[in-house]
Amino acid sequence: MSSTALAAFLSRNLAELKQNGLYNEIDVLEGANGPTIRIRGRELVNMSSNNYLGLAGDPRLVRAAAEALERYGVGAGAVRTINGTMDIHAELEEKLAAFKGTEAAISYQSGFNCNMAAISAIMDDGDAILSDELNHASIIDGCRLSRAKIIRFRHSDMEDLERKAQEARNSGAYGKLMVITDGVFSMDGDIAKLPDIVEIAERYDLITYVDDAHGSGVLGRGAGTVKHFGLSDRVDLQIGTLSKAIGVVGGYVAGRKDLIDWLKVRSRPFLFSTALPPSIVAACIAALDILQSSEDLQRKLWHNAAYLRQGLIKLGFDTGSSETPITPCIIGEEKLTQRFSQALIEEGVYAKAIVFPTVPKGKGRIRNMPTAAHTEEMLDRVLSVYGRVRSKLLDGTPS
Ligand SMILES: *Cc1c(COP(=O)(O)O)cnc(C)c1O
Repeated sequence: MSSTALAAFLSRNLAELKQNGLYNEIDVLEGANGPTIRIRGRELVNMSSNNYLGLAGDPRLVRAAAEALERYGVGAGAVRTINGTMDIHAELEEKLAAFKGTEAAISYQSGFNCNMAAISAIMDDGDAILSDELNHASIIDGCRLSRAKIIRFRHSDMEDLERKAQEARNSGAYGKLMVITDGVFSMDGDIAKLPDIVEIAERYDLITYVDDAHGSGVLGRGAGTVKHFGLSDRVDLQIGTLSKAIGVVGGYVAGRKDLIDWLKVRSRPFLFSTALPPSIVAACIAALDILQSSEDLQRKLWHNAAYLRQGLIKLGFDTGSSETPITPCIIGEEKLTQRFSQALIEEGVYAKAIVFPTVPKGKGRIRNMPTAAHTEEMLDRVLSVYGRVRSKLLDGTPS
C-alpha cells in the first residue's frame, strides 16, 4: 500500500501551487527545438531556448553524432574511471582546453553536474565560499554539498564582496576561501565584474570559480566571459556547458592540469555516473570545430539580438540592462506579465514569463532569447506581435 503521508504531502502542496498560479504546465514540442517550434499542432517563433547559435539542429552535428553512433554504439558502457573513457572523450577534453585557453579540461554529463562535482571536490567543512546572491541553482546546491560556510554577497556589489572577503580572511575561522559567480546572469543578461572579482581574489587569496554557462559560445569570440576580459590565466576554475550555445548536452571544467587530475580522482559524478554517450561527444566536437573555424554564428547572434532589442525599444518596452543577447522585456506586475506571455503565445510567439520569486516583485518580464538561427522575417513577426499585444494589454495602463 502506498504511504498516506506521501499522498497528503503531495495533494496539499500541489493544490497550494495551483491556487497561487505557480504550478508550471509543461509544453511539449512536436519536433526539434529550432528557431520555430511546433506545440499542439501550431507553429510558433521560438524565443525561449538557450540554443544561442542554432547548433542544436545543425546538420553537421547531426552527421557527426550519426557517424559516432555507428562506430561506438549508443552508450559509453561504464563510468569514466572504469572503462567508459573512449578516445573521443579524450579528444573532446583536449579541444575544450584549447578552446578555453587552459592546460586541461574534464567533461561531465551536464553543467549542473559540474557544479555538483567541482565545488565539493575542492571545498570542505571549515572552508568558506563567497557566492553572488543571484548565482544559478546548481551553484547553490553545489556549495551546500561541499559543507563549506556559504557567505552570500549582494549581486555584483564589489564593495560588499571585498568587505566580506576581508572579514572572512581576517577572522582566521576558515581554511580555503573561494569566490564563485555566474559569468553571465541569465535573468538580466548582465556580465559579472570579473576584472574586479579577480583583483579582490588576488588580494585575499580566494580561489576563483566562474560558471560561464551563458557566456560560452557567446562572448570572448566564443571562449566565454573570462576570455572576453583577458583573464584566462587568473581564474582557477572555468565551468562551461555543452547544453546551451554548443547545442548538445554536457558540461566541463577547464583549468590547470593538476586541478583536472584531482577532479578525475575525487569528483563524484565523474566517478559514479556513466560517461557522456559517444554520439553526444562527437556532436560537441563538431560544434567546437565550427566555433573555432568561424565567427559567423556569433556575429549573426549579436546582430539578431541588437535588431530585436532596438525593435522592442522602439515599441516602447523596457529591455532592462542586459549586456548580452538575453533580452528581457520588463512588463511589471506578475499576473499581467503572465497574461502578456499567454497573449504572445496565442499570437504565434513562444516567449515565457519570468516572475517573482525568480526575479524581484513588480519586475516580471518576458525573457527573449534570440539565436543565430532566427531570420529577420521571424524577428519582424515577433516585433509585430509584441506591438499588437502591447496595444491590447498595456495601452491606457502605465508601463
Ligand atoms: C544552465 C546552467 C547550468 C546547467 O547547465 P546544464 O548543462 O543545462 O545542466 C549551470 N550553471 C548555469 C550558470 C546555468 O545557467
